Amino acid sequence: MQEYSNRPHTLNELVPEVAKKGYSEIAVSGQIGDEEVLLGLAKTACDHDLGFMVFTGFMKYQQAHLVTHPEQRMVMSTDADVDDQDAVPIKMGCPFNVEFQKRYFDFLEFLGRIPNLTECWVNDEATFGANEGAVGCYCHVCREDWKQRFGGSIPLHPFKDQQEKNNFVKWRFERWNEVHGQMKEALNKDHRVLAVWLSSPRACWDVNPWISGVDFSGMIDRIDGVNTDPYYTFHLPSVGAGQFKPIEVYLSECSRFISGYTAADDKVGEICAQGFSHPTFTRPLDKRDGWWASVLPPALGVDHITAYTYLLQRAGQMQGGYEEAFRLDPYFSRAKPINLVAIIDSLETQAFDPDVVGTGINSWRISRMLRFSEVARHQGLPYAYLPSAEITSSRLGEYPVVILPNVTCMSADQRAALQAYVHGGGVLIAAGATATRNESGMPSDNTFLSRVFGISSCEMLTASGEYESTIDHFAFSDLPWPDEITAMPSWGGSRCPVLGLDPVAKIGALTDTQVLAHFVSGPDAPESVAGCPALTIRSYGQGTAIFLSGIPIRMFVKAQTSAQVLNFTSRVLNQLILSFAGQHCPVKALNFPPRVPMQDVRPLDPRWMPTMEFLPLVGDGIYLAAVPSYFQEPFEFQIQANLPNGKVCRQVRELVSDKPVTALDEGDGIVEMTARFKPEDYLKVFAFMFE
Ligand SMILES: [Zn+2]
Repeated sequence: MQEYSNRPHTLNELVPEVAKKGYSEIAVSGQIGDEEVLLGLAKTACDHDLGFMVFTGFMKYQQAHLVTHPEQRMVMSTDADVDDQDAVPIKMGCPFNVEFQKRYFDFLEFLGRIPNLTECWVNDEATFGANEGAVGCYCHVCREDWKQRFGGSIPLHPFKDQQEKNNFVKWRFERWNEVHGQMKEALNKDHRVLAVWLSSPRACWDVNPWISGVDFSGMIDRIDGVNTDPYYTFHLPSVGAGQFKPIEVYLSECSRFISGYTAADDKVGEICAQGFSHPTFTRPLDKRDGWWASVLPPALGVDHITAYTYLLQRAGQMQGGYEEAFRLDPYFSRAKPINLVAIIDSLETQAFDPDVVGTGINSWRISRMLRFSEVARHQGLPYAYLPSAEITSSRLGEYPVVILPNVTCMSADQRAALQAYVHGGGVLIAAGATATRNESGMPSDNTFLSRVFGISSCEMLTASGEYESTIDHFAFSDLPWPDEITAMPSWGGSRCPVLGLDPVAKIGALTDTQVLAHFVSGPDAPESVAGCPALTIRSYGQGTAIFLSGIPIRMFVKAQTSAQVLNFTSRVLNQLILSFAGQHCPVKALNFPPRVPMQDVRPLDPRWMPTMEFLPLVGDGIYLAAVPSYFQEPFEFQIQANLPNGKVCRQVRELVSDKPVTALDEGDGIVEMTARFKPEDYLKVFAFMFE
């Protein structure tokens, strides 16, 4: 709850209304100076059996204070040589300045004494920079800290060498994570209060962690969780460089990102959904957005949801759907997302591989990790992000399939855990250069690829390339190639879909490895990879190691004509994943992605993509399948539920319309149904209840 006319006490009058609707807590913004109002609101919340949360800023929002306290300002690298901090522009405060810290920690201690305070969002949207040309912090305190630890002055980008960069980046991660630990300590002096960091989505997707200073795993270790705010009609296409399409998948992708980092039982993952729209945004929010905001985060493992803010939401159409969806809470509280595919989010690769540079479209998470999310999302495969800090035997063991999207930097322990994972029966898919460096970005012995995949080496190129199957293999069966007439060139070239990778990689000699596809000869692939393996497969111990010589991309640009065409690589990967691990998925989408009318009219249009998602969950006596339809195209596909041994299906119910599904195909522990969507449908949640 927030109030925008400087009358925060009026929020007290809202509390009875909120309490009646099924909310569990109220969250309000609080700054130093708001103490009295906060105490009043906490009391009102308590009187209505509501928990109380406060969201706070630390480095941000302190401009007025920093005017009179220039020594507490954060100093960016552009001002690294400025000695008089009065002359430094005011952006944020330096989180390592003890006086600046004390002010905030005292405030947190005050909040921690509020008896019904359950949680505090700390250090709202703080960061150390958005591009490599301007990073913090080079203030007097930080200069002194560096001198004590390493001697000399804080290095500047471009760094002298890898070691200098490593020292700088690790030093910043460690110190900042520690300050967050101190915030948790300050909050918890009276009773248990969750300390949750509110991250900007930019730090999740666009900005390289060495620049932002954000090491999610290290920070969450010190506190209780993380929250982000995916405002899709507001942030996009700026965040993610236009790669979140349709825009609403920004909500589901941020939810997956957050729940990937907070999977441990004692951590909380939170989404602050968009509840407001202004005329400058893409479109107004309506009831559908309310339903998506309420249902998609829990369908993807997020623990707590709120919307920014109650009054803004209430002024528009979104709140109706948001609150109507509360009746689904009892179902989602019983179920967890199905783990099938884990996509590794490698902090080490982003922070320490000297070749990984760039933000937005060129950031590693967008240009590598998100390419594989798109493969899985478009094929209806359930997937999650697994932070590289959790590449351990126990965490890997939760996922039948693990994908390394051009993960170059890996410690010896991480390599050993992955090797053991495949050997023990896992399916490991690696794309492009993999494990070529250690966790600090120094060249490694490069034996991981040869041991697991039977590939002697791998070198990334910058060009794209097409490939073709070399043998008759199920990975390539039933691909929807167009007939001869449809495929005829028109309007400046062939629109025929391809099998392609962008960029490609050149791999070395093979041992015991089956080649499923090789790059074509001619203008459609770089000459240096003509005839080289593009897709290989190898049995390793009990498991399977699949290697892709490049990165899959949804829309492929033909080298010769620059024509944009569809790429069937995601379908090939899907068939491989399902054949090796499909049995681990108790709720499956069949005939997914479903066909939509636009494909009949423009069958080869490269702008086509699935505009629906399939989000299956499992629980005790229940399977759920949430299916948002963002574009509201008419379509149908089948959902197949494999019940646990000896269980009988009692009922299948669609929870949004609250109606039973009667046309079921049942037999042998399998229940199959058709999910039909009309243009008015934007979300269905199917519940398979069995006993
Ligand atoms: Zn500083």
